[in-house]
Amino acid sequence: MTTEWNEVLDKLLELMGLDLKIARLEQRMARAPAELKNRAAAIADIDGKAKQVADRVRLLRAQILLRENERKSHQLKIEKLKAQAGEVRSNKEFVAFRSEIPNTQGEVDRLDGEILKIMEVVEQADAKLEEFNGEKTREQELADKAQAEIDEKQADVRAQREGLLKDRPAVLEAIPKEPRELYERVHQARGRAMSALEGEFCSACGERQTRNEVYNVQNRTRLIVCRACSRILFQP
Ligand SMILES: [Zn+2]
Repeated sequence: MTTEWNEVLDKLLELMGLDLKIARLEQRMARAPAELKNRAAAIADIDGKAKQVADRVRLLRAQILLRENERKSHQLKIEKLKAQAGEVRSNKEFVAFRSEIPNTQGEVDRLDGEILKIMEVVEQADAKLEEFNGEKTREQELADKAQAEIDEKQADVRAQREGLLKDRPAVLEAIPKEPRELYERVHQARGRAMSALEGEFCSACGERQTRNEVYNVQNRTRLIVCRACSRILFQP
């Protein structure tokens, strides 16, 4: 009986090793999307900054348009004044025109100056947008590269996992019904179906085992499960 359990335990440990490998591969598969998430966040960050600048440019262009319209109406006024100036009859009227034309021209010049200044700011903002576009392209390339690498790695990880899953039934079948079903039950409920004994404690849940149980685990005399977490105990 003792010899028999000794053999069964070895098979259980083999199964546990296999399941651990499968679990690690599954963890790697789950981790990969997190790496891509960081890349996507970097791109979203650049998009956010670019949008702010683009909004500002839109506002500045609207300001330029306002000034251009104002300038146009001043220009029309000047043309009208010049036409009227030719028809002045009194000196008083002439003086009035003489001061109104340069005043309006002054307004036009002021608006020209303002438009020029705003255009300079727009140019700077456009340059900044170019920069953001470049950054985004670079970041997108990195993201694509990361995606390709992950796809490649994932394909490898997936293939490894499938290979191990194919090996599993044979390992499982070699184990007698009772410990096999117990293993599968705990495996499905808790992930790890077995736990190493650490002194008198279950290393998975920390529960202290009785002296008799510890003895049986250490000597591989019979199947012992942790009294708290139901994992099959073994002496590492
Ligand atoms: Zn336990």
